[in-house]
Amino acid sequence: VNTQWISWSGLVEGRPARWLHPRSEDEIAQAIGHTAAAGGRIAVSGSGHSFAPLVSTERSTLLSLRGYAGVESIDHEAMQVTVRSGTTLRALNELLLRAGLALPNQTAIDAQTIGGVVATASHGGGTRYGSLSQHVVGARVVTADGSVRQIAETDAEIDALRLNLGCLGVVSTLRLSVVPSFTLRKVIDVRRVSDLAAVMEHVRGQEFGGMYWYPHTGIVRVWHAQQRPASHRTQQPAGRTPPHWLLRRSMAPAPLARHVNRAIAALGGRHSDRTLPSDRAIVGALAPRQQALEYAVPADVATGMARDLIDLVDRRRLRVAAPIEFRFTAADTAWLSPAYGRQACYVNVASYLDAGRDWATPFRQIADLLAAHGGRTHWAKVHWFDRVKLAGQYPRWNDFQRARTAFDRNGLFLNDYLRALFVPDSVRVPDLPASDRCPQAGR
Ligand SMILES: Cc1cc2nc3c(=O)[nH]c(=O)nc-3n(C[C@H](O)[C@H](O)[C@H](O)COP(=O)(O)OP(=O)(O)OC[C@H]3O[C@@H](n4cnc5c(N)ncnc54)[C@H](O)[C@@H]3O)c2cc1C
Repeated sequence: VNTQWISWSGLVEGRPARWLHPRSEDEIAQAIGHTAAAGGRIAVSGSGHSFAPLVSTERSTLLSLRGYAGVESIDHEAMQVTVRSGTTLRALNELLLRAGLALPNQTAIDAQTIGGVVATASHGGGTRYGSLSQHVVGARVVTADGSVRQIAETDAEIDALRLNLGCLGVVSTLRLSVVPSFTLRKVIDVRRVSDLAAVMEHVRGQEFGGMYWYPHTGIVRVWHAQQRPASHRTQQPAGRTPPHWLLRRSMAPAPLARHVNRAIAALGGRHSDRTLPSDRAIVGALAPRQQALEYAVPADVATGMARDLIDLVDRRRLRVAAPIEFRFTAADTAWLSPAYGRQACYVNVASYLDAGRDWATPFRQIADLLAAHGGRTHWAKVHWFDRVKLAGQYPRWNDFQRARTAFDRNGLFLNDYLRALFVPDSVRVPDLPASDRCPQAGR
């Protein structure tokens, strides 16, 4: 079948040689067996919400896991749930709520599959929690020879699985620890950049929280949330969600963007205080189509980093999307997590694509600044690190590579992009061009 696969951003695309939608672990194993025997490669996709070319499909068999969804079992005593990897966060949140349960934390959207979330250690905001991968206590993985490997919480490989980039094999089910369902009282306030140090310390101290800065203005919006019992609800009206056309205008030249960004910030209102189910309190509206860069710096340097970043964007009048988001997380144990071994402050910078702007030039300057502050890239987003730089950032890099080759000796699950990052002497990842297109590395 010569049908095109395209990511949510539209920046990663390809024509897989075969496109399969397995409905069972057996079908996954069969697809792997046939492809391996024919000398092909396997690409695995969830919802396609990654920005980096993790799912490059050229000449591959593409396994789309979206149809392999649902909760397999719930263990109320152990507070654990076993879920198929193609289940979206939205579906999982609904299924859990019906059982009186919830994930302990959330990402900013809920369209991703749990398989994709775990493969990239996707995270929320709040220093009590690491990425959502930290809730994984077990998994079943269909490996390159078609056999199923069970990984338990006590196995060392669990920390390879918790950020696996699809290169250990196809994760069929995941066992996650969950909590009783709860609501969150979420408070949002407008603050000034001149209070940056106090604001950052405040956000860092929250169980759930984050900060948005509106480029070329002195305005930041800060949110924090605290747990309430499941029955609590308040329905005070919140501010309005800015329309996509207005958000896209934040990409205008700086003097105009300043006015636009003030208007975007004002739409949210000066103060909001609402109590909502935990997922609805955190998950937001889907933003316009965009390219995204996100790095995690050590939490201890976050305020200095934020000050330097704000200064860079303002001084050079960089054309990036509003807002820029800052979130703190606890340290992760996942060997390749940007938050491995350290409390982190994630910074997300977007560029709205339909505004037709060059995203790469401002991103490159921002990436250099974040790297200088010890930033590690979110693996689902764009970056300019090569294999040597990445290897130097992760104390457990070699452990991950050993696990990867133990699971997949011949690189059945490696695409050109990952091969260039993981395998010595393979083709170099070319620089990203200053255009909208995100190349499949090594082509
Ligand atoms: C608008 C938007 C908002 C976002 N917000 C956040 C956020 O708040 N926090 C955050 O950390 N990230 C965020 N992300 C990034 C997102 O969480 C990740 O890109 C995530 O990987 C997407 O999941 P997916 O199901 O779309 O996976 P895909 O993008 O389809 O795949 C991602 C990786 O997972 C692998 N994979 C998927 N399923 C399996 C499986 N079953 N077995 C093995 N490998 C598998 C793929 O091979 C690939 O390597 C956001 C992205 C967008 C577009």
